[in-house]
Amino acid sequence: SLNTERHEYDVVVIGAGGAGLRAAIEARQQGKRTAIVCKSLFGKAHTVMAEGGAAAAMGNVNSDDNWMVHFRDTMRGGKFLNNWRMAELHAKEAPDRVWELEAWGALFDRTKDGKISQRNFGGHEYPRLAHVGDRTGLEMIRTLQQRVVALQQEDYETHGDYEAYIKVFAECTVTRLLKDGDAVSGAFGYWRETGNFILFDAPAVVLATGGIGKSYVVTSNSWEYTGDGHALALLAGANLINMEFIQFHPTGMVWPPSVRGILVTESVRGDGGVLRNSEGKRFMFDYVPDVFKDKYATSEEEGDRWYTDQANNRRPPELLPRDEVARAINAEVKAGRGSPQGGVFLDVSTRLPAEEIKKRLPSMYHQFKELADVDITAEPMQVGPTCHYIMGGVEVSADTGAAAVPGLFAAGEVSGGMHGSNRLGGNSLSDLLVFGRRAGAGAAAYVDGLAGRPKVADEAVEAAREEALAPLGRSGENPYEVHHELQRTMNELVGIIRKPDEISEALQVVEKLKERVALVGAAGSRIYNPGWHLAIDLRNMVLVSECVARAALLREESRGGHTRDDFPGMNPEWRRKLLVCSTEDGSVHVEEKVQPRMRDDLIGLFERDELSKYLTDEEMTEFDGIAK
Ligand code: FAD
Repeated sequence: SLNTERHEYDVVVIGAGGAGLRAAIEARQQGKRTAIVCKSLFGKAHTVMAEGGAAAAMGNVNSDDNWMVHFRDTMRGGKFLNNWRMAELHAKEAPDRVWELEAWGALFDRTKDGKISQRNFGGHEYPRLAHVGDRTGLEMIRTLQQRVVALQQEDYETHGDYEAYIKVFAECTVTRLLKDGDAVSGAFGYWRETGNFILFDAPAVVLATGGIGKSYVVTSNSWEYTGDGHALALLAGANLINMEFIQFHPTGMVWPPSVRGILVTESVRGDGGVLRNSEGKRFMFDYVPDVFKDKYATSEEEGDRWYTDQANNRRPPELLPRDEVARAINAEVKAGRGSPQGGVFLDVSTRLPAEEIKKRLPSMYHQFKELADVDITAEPMQVGPTCHYIMGGVEVSADTGAAAVPGLFAAGEVSGGMHGSNRLGGNSLSDLLVFGRRAGAGAAAYVDGLAGRPKVADEAVEAAREEALAPLGRSGENPYEVHHELQRTMNELVGIIRKPDEISEALQVVEKLKERVALVGAAGSRIYNPGWHLAIDLRNMVLVSECVARAALLREESRGGHTRDDFPGMNPEWRRKLLVCSTEDGSVHVEEKVQPRMRDDLIGLFERDELSKYLTDEEMTEFDGIAK
């Protein structure tokens, strides 16, 4: 069609974060012509912002660590709702993926004897996060991009063209996936700068678009996390699972208002920082739930000793999984024991020497100094929960990343299952590497198995063009207003603590917003027009928000990143159920699906006592049969 440039690839990877880059590298290494498309600048993906590190049971700091311990921690963190096969692959393969990064040039912090150093993080039994100060994501992206360049140099040697096998299309937003019958045949999008359209003919697409945080007001996520991949998958006929589970990171900045939600890394607590309320009390000791009682210190003295002697002490409760800490902070603030700016105090200044703080947490030191005029080596920070990560995403096959639609793959935050109802810190960076690689390989193998190439239908391209252009032609409502209403609604009505009448109210608002989205107008031309781009993104945010709210209304229990005021406990019956979202004619349908039973050798890694806290009686009877 007019004005639409056209490219042909074997594999199109949408997203240039850790998952997308690792997938693209794999597809190229398997001989596939690969495009990397990203809506932000190349190198500006979310992954860059990751601070704490990548979790991998390398056992460098504590040799008792191994994949089985990591697997158990991950399942506990996700409250046993995780796709156990993904958790298994992740725990087994993460060390290799980290060593591979090192071979490609990543410079991790070191132990005294020269191994990759590993730090403590919430929910991880041993020090496990490979890191580079508090800027791990930056080093990860730098290394993966360097690897892409190295492959391009190889291709230049062989083909005389750097971009023969991998080409990056940056500042290019995909708005629709295209299909030939049931199968993927390409992707359609626009250049942000010119507004011109672009079409990819490709039999395989890997979604690696990250999260959905921008549907909430208070979030650690940056502008591009508008749930595009989630929505593209839904609209192409794939399913989303676990959408009710959203991780509210316990520690975001609460002040000044302009930076509210910006992340304060968990490393602050991992390295000794403690949480206090307005009365100066380390309140987390009051919030250790039964399932974790025997694993956490009961006194401040024991918790403090743990930093130097982990064999003989239990960890401090500040390092409980994130959902527990976020709910505790929420409760303290609600009870009137919050800090002046509406959070609680996070103090590292009385816990470590100033020089040590600057060395271990350089970004945090600068962030507070520059944004809030707070010197974290001398005074406490004020922090509160912020929407950080979505556990839910595209339902994929664990081994290949394949979605239900042939030719569609997903990896990283846009995929669902791996983290169950709650993700442990550090498990995302390792997830990106493990499943990015697997999705790239899955896509390559799929392409190899095809008899012929699918075709893009002209009508589908025309429809995608018209859809994208629609807001420009209208003198409708301002997209920013619609966006703010959606963000407020989700924050207030489908936030940390959920009530059924509030969720229903949110769904009514979302229903109305859908109509308003269909009528928003963007002034100006196609040339670099953020209002127009937001108008396009709104379709995705509203769709994804509907999934979150519908699933949240159905799940009548509290687990991980889903807390129901009217059902405060976990219900073993619900552990077996996944809520699967699909869409037809613009509305979202949710169906229950029973999780497959965990393999015997994996279930055998847990003690009976622990399992009995999560499983139904029926499942326990089965377990006893196996144990015999
Ligand atoms: P992203 O890195 O989010 O990349 C998404 C890519 O998709 C981008 O290139 C974007 O431009 C592109 N994209 C999106 N939509 C489109 C579209 N429509 N068309 C084209 N391109 C599109 N996890 C850890 O494990 N350890 C940590 O220490 C840690 N710290 C964090 C700190 C912060 C501040 C934040 C926000 C997150 C942190 N996380 C951490 C979580 C982790 O960083 C993310 O979950 C992870 O980086 C997501 O990676 P990804 O590859 O899935 O996607």
